[in-house]
Amino acid sequence: MFLILPLGTIYLLKIDRNTTDKYIDNHRNYLEQVLNNIDSSFSAYEQLIFTTVKITEELPADKSEHEAALKLAFSSSRSALVYGIGIWYEPYSFDEKTERFGPYINYIDANKDKVEITYFWNTPEYNYHDRKWYKTSLAAKEGQTAVTPPYFDSDYTYITFGKPFYKEGQRAGVVTVDIVLPQLQDYLSDYDFSDFSGVYLTTRDHSIVFSKTDAGNAAFERHALEGEQLGHFIDMTAVYNENDITSFFEGIGQKPELLTSETENGVFRIHAFLDRKAILRDIIFQHTLQYLIFFLFWITVLYLILFSSSYLKRNYENRLLNTENERLKEEIFKRKEAESRLTFHAYYDEVSGLQNLNSFMEKEEAPQIENDSRSLIQISLNNMKELSLILSGTVIDETLLAFTTRLKNVCPLETRLYRARGFSFFVVFDDRETGSSQKLAEKLLNEFRFALRLGSRDIRLRAKIGLVYFKDAESLEQVLVMSQSTIAGQDEADSGKVALFDRSIQDQKARHFVLDAAMSQPGFIRELHMLYQYIVKTEDRAPAGFEALMRWDSSVLGSTISPGEFIPLAEENGMIISLGWFAIKEVLKALSGPLVNSDLFVTVNVSPIQFIELGFPDKLDKLLRKYSVEKSRLKLEITESSAAAAIESFWQIIDELIRRGYRLAIDDFGTGESSFHRLYNMAFDTLKIDRSFITGIDQEERNQEICRSLMDIGKTMGSQIVAEGVETEEEHRVLREIGIKYTQGYLYARPQPLSETEFG
Ligand code: C2E
Ligand code: CA
Ligand code: CA
Repeated sequence: MFLILPLGTIYLLKIDRNTTDKYIDNHRNYLEQVLNNIDSSFSAYEQLIFTTVKITEELPADKSEHEAALKLAFSSSRSALVYGIGIWYEPYSFDEKTERFGPYINYIDANKDKVEITYFWNTPEYNYHDRKWYKTSLAAKEGQTAVTPPYFDSDYTYITFGKPFYKEGQRAGVVTVDIVLPQLQDYLSDYDFSDFSGVYLTTRDHSIVFSKTDAGNAAFERHALEGEQLGHFIDMTAVYNENDITSFFEGIGQKPELLTSETENGVFRIHAFLDRKAILRDIIFQHTLQYLIFFLFWITVLYLILFSSSYLKRNYENRLLNTENERLKEEIFKRKEAESRLTFHAYYDEVSGLQNLNSFMEKEEAPQIENDSRSLIQISLNNMKELSLILSGTVIDETLLAFTTRLKNVCPLETRLYRARGFSFFVVFDDRETGSSQKLAEKLLNEFRFALRLGSRDIRLRAKIGLVYFKDAESLEQVLVMSQSTIAGQDEADSGKVALFDRSIQDQKARHFVLDAAMSQPGFIRELHMLYQYIVKTEDRAPAGFEALMRWDSSVLGSTISPGEFIPLAEENGMIISLGWFAIKEVLKALSGPLVNSDLFVTVNVSPIQFIELGFPDKLDKLLRKYSVEKSRLKLEITESSAAAAIESFWQIIDELIRRGYRLAIDDFGTGESSFHRLYNMAFDTLKIDRSFITGIDQEERNQEICRSLMDIGKTMGSQIVAEGVETEEEHRVLREIGIKYTQGYLYARPQPLSETEFG
């Protein structure tokens, strides 16, 4: 397109150019017609003159004979322009006596090529001798026609063309033709030259004999009147070539265009000069409409192109918008779906499809003291924690669903079933007949003698069952508290019995319940913080690293709670996942913050339940990248007993973590047993000998032996050994003797906030 536009312009200009040329051509033809007319009339005289000259050349120089011939020529002239014809001989002296017709030719330069013939003409009426023009030379070579400037007679302005002739190689005379200038002007005025900036009549050798321009005419006239060349007007008597004339007119601001070249036999030549620029301007002006259409056309084309491109763009954007809309719709749909799922989540348990605790609190009416027939049977599946280590999440879910189905089958229709937190279920029963709740609870308990069949697998669930009455409580919350403590208070030994609410048991186990409740508070995680206990080199007690230990400052209980108390609970109620990530993040913050420039490692305790969370290694990787912490600076501690109880996927994740370059430590080493052999195949970084082997090691020969053998195991496994719980100098000394490289205990440092260590 950007090529087409200039091409179009060039095309237009070319058209214009053609038009100019055509225009000029037309006028050329027209002029040529005019010229032909002039030419023919003048050429007739030329011929006459030539004939005359021939005659004179051939005839003896007899003046009277010549004059007779000229008279004949003159009378037969067809041109009204010719005023007179004369022949001037050399030597032809001025007849002073008659004083009439006394012209003569005066050789100024004898050189043949540059002869100037000065003729004088005198009449009794006028004495022209003192007139400059009269003395003007006719400068012409043989065969050339010269022209005089216009000169003034009584009525007319004349110009005279003179043509020297030669006889026997010698200039013999001049034949002159007189033209009356106004007549010539009239003659030419019959033609319309108004389009032209100037029309100049010149001789064959380009001497100008006539100008149609005002300036030219005025100059002619002044020239004629004053007998001299005025202003810039061209010297009429000089011989000019095309270039002279062209540059002359350029000099007066015109761009002449030479229209005609010489014609064959003409004496006279008209050269018309056009101002081509002006013409072009005129033409372009005339073509304004065409130009306008042209540009309009291109503007339209451009507009269309832009419009269509913007249309396409809009179209494209619309398409984008549409897909975006679709995406948004989908998103909204998903959100709505999620929202309804959330409401579902809020009141229903996803796995069992039963209503949850929220529903319980909203649906069940507040207890009426002494006048409430409702009872609450709580079933707590108490081997689910173990099962979840063996079975995959899906199988666990299927198990729970199967259990729910069985529950529904056993319970009468009018009972209301709820799934409580963890692996607890509530059965709300209207106990109109005394003892019927007890019977139902026992019936339910009896069900646990039978395994659940899941595909080809039999799963034995174990449960604690408690029974409380609504009439004993003041609120729904209290119903729950009583039920919880009933279950919690039930010893393993009592399993197989339905636990009944016992206030003393409640007192005993209340704290556990209260802790559990406090942990479910939204601000729980914010109440946690980490303490750091030095792990030192036994040799010189120089710090080698830290163990990060969690503390919980419970606002509800108004005290700091030890992890020994809340970690098992968190493992039970699922809080361990968020709690575990909190610990890891805190440690990473410490490593990328206060400890960034130290070479100390930090070891953090990880529960096996955390490990088996989907995508644990990836999430860990991501966090380390986020905090820019090297894997070597972090150690993950897992207890041997938990490892022992672990399922296959647990080992796979340990394997995966080691493969990814994480350092793993076995905590409380020496206390677990069942999967002990598996530890040998894993590249554990560290083994931490349990405090039970360390306390009083200086007095216990057996413990020293155990320590030595645990050290051997560490050596075979390529692991570092850390002794935990060193409290006395004696213990330290013995461990040093044995060759335990690293130790940890109150002897060196208590767990403390990082700010209170040397890194604070
Ligand atoms: P652990 O991993 O065996 O941690 C060592 C425990 O022994 C810590 O108790 C520590 O304070 C204590 N201790 C250190 N030196 C001595 C000593 O010389 N004498 C005595 N008597 N005790 C000493 P803490 O801090 O109460 O932690 C108890 C357990 O809670 C830890 O045992 C660990 O299993 C668990 N735990 C602590 N923090 C976390 C955590 O962030 N995540 C997880 N999953 N468990 C944690
Ligand atoms: Ca530990
Ligand atoms: Ca330990």
